[in-house]
Amino acid sequence: MPDIETSCVQCKDTFLFTEKEQDTYYQRNMMPPQRCQKCRSKKAAAGEDAPKRFEIVCDHCGKHDQVPFQPKVGRSVLCRECHEASRSRARFA
Ligand SMILES: [Zn+2]
Ligand SMILES: [Zn+2]
Repeated sequence: MPDIETSCVQCKDTFLFTEKEQDTYYQRNMMPPQRCQKCRSKKAAAGEDAPKRFEIVCDHCGKHDQVPFQPKVGRSVLCRECHEASRSRARFA
């Protein structure tokens, strides 16, 4: 699928709904975005999007994932799998 150019319902700017994003959206069964990245992050910051999700890149395996908390700058972030794995390791240590 090619990138789709969409115009933001909020600020009327055009933005790209990229091939990669489309994949993610379809996999998660989500509606295509109607707002540009800027308006979406503003909306998220305003707390209108529930539950809140933050995009992370796992420090351990490099996988992209979303977490329900704001990752702390300078702290390593783990995807769900690595997080679970490190937790169970800790439990048996
Ligand atoms: Zn916008
Ligand atoms: Zn990971």
